[in-house]
Amino acid sequence: MPQIELQNVTKYYINEKKRFAAVNDVSLSIRQGEFVFLIGSSGAGKTTLLRLIANQIVPDEGKIWMDDLEISRIKAWRRPFYRRTIGQVWQDSGLIRKKTIAENLEIVQRAMGVKAKVIPENTQKALALVGMRANERRYPAELSGGQIKLVELARAVICNPPVLLVDEITANLDHDTGWDIMTILSEINRCGTTVIMATHARDFVNIMRRRVITLVAGRIAADAEKGKYGE
Ligand code: ADP
Repeated sequence: MPQIELQNVTKYYINEKKRFAAVNDVSLSIRQGEFVFLIGSSGAGKTTLLRLIANQIVPDEGKIWMDDLEISRIKAWRRPFYRRTIGQVWQDSGLIRKKTIAENLEIVQRAMGVKAKVIPENTQKALALVGMRANERRYPAELSGGQIKLVELARAVICNPPVLLVDEITANLDHDTGWDIMTILSEINRCGTTVIMATHARDFVNIMRRRVITLVAGRIAADAEKGKYGE
């Protein structure tokens, strides 16, 4: 059974009073433990697709399943619980600026119901995974763009989510930091987490040779095992 399944999913938005499908009749299955690149030009629907899987938005048509839970139908009050089980890193930083890195990580763990006693150790482990242990007392404004992404990655996986969604995580980063992040994502994936990554990073896609799903105007134009960028 696939872990994530989309059946004929469509999401409409209104642009200049006209309705258009940002995600258009998409059907797709992802197995647990897969590493999936989501590629396509700007506006192709990558972020919208990730937001649908994260249940931040619900489809206008079609169904989305996470294991045996139909998330396109879950009640509004259950949505926050579901969303917390999915690791997420979005383009805009989600860190709280007035809190230190450790405090930011503590807040998510509290929200997830982690026992207070184990929070400091979890925080250390998560920061160690991304090589940011030395920064736990610093504030987000004191970190570089790459370091922010590393902390966000630590925060996203701190409770071992079954699925990790990442949107353009290597955008605006230098090549080395980008590779550091790709290496960490591979490691997270190797430990069993399904990773779905929207990206424009041609080099990373071509070297990693993982599944590549190409979106064009909201539709799946290609879906290749061990794919390459633009093939
Ligand atoms: P990508 O991530 O591939 O760049 P997006 O999923 O962000 O694409 O956007 C797909 C299309 O939907 C774009 O035309 C975008 O402008 C539009 N869109 C995305 N979110 C909204 C929204 N909240 N309201 C209106 N239009 C939106």
